[in-house]
Amino acid sequence: MTIVYIGLGGNLPSIAGAPEATLASAAERLASLGRVVRRSRLYSTAPVGFASQPRFVNAVVALETELDPRALLDALLGIEREFGRDRSFSVPNGPRTLDLDILLYGTEVIYGTALQVPHPRLTGRAFVLAPLSEIAPDEPVPGTGQTARQLLEGLAAGEDDAVRPMESAIWRAS
Ligand code: ADP
Ligand code: MG
Repeated sequence: MTIVYIGLGGNLPSIAGAPEATLASAAERLASLGRVVRRSRLYSTAPVGFASQPRFVNAVVALETELDPRALLDALLGIEREFGRDRSFSVPNGPRTLDLDILLYGTEVIYGTALQVPHPRLTGRAFVLAPLSEIAPDEPVPGTGQTARQLLEGLAAGEDDAVRPMESAIWRAS
């Protein structure tokens, strides 16, 4: 059994509804891959890189699973497709119904073509580090010598409302 941290994000409506409903349904789907042991709040976050798109909703879930990293990635890509993720016209950091990323897989460092862990863009992204630090502040991020909270504190302050927790009845009820 390994504890894996999975980042969830989306900013387009899916078959489940608005992004917060998508993330709530996706979190329920993740429970089929193991045991969900912690969930962050939802965060409303400003898009990074590609500005003319809706704000994102992000969260992080801790999953205890027996799936190996590659099987887990395949399962996550399958769930993204279930929620209508369309990669045919995708632009980097562009709009999407659902993005599921393996942020940390225990203490493993993986450097493959299809899978890199820790997630390569984890360290610079407040929209990932804020929810990760909420549920696992002292978790070491392999390869950085720092914990999730230290990485978050080391980021330059963004705009005031770049990353803000959301109150969501749908998320709480899921
Ligand atoms: P991003 O999440 O960086 O915005 P995408 O979701 O479009 O970009 O990236 C998809 C590809 O990234 C996947 O097909 C997968 O092979 C690859 N990838 C590499 N490392 C990871 C990881 N740790 N978690 C999820 N996908 C990863
Ligand atoms: Mg992704």
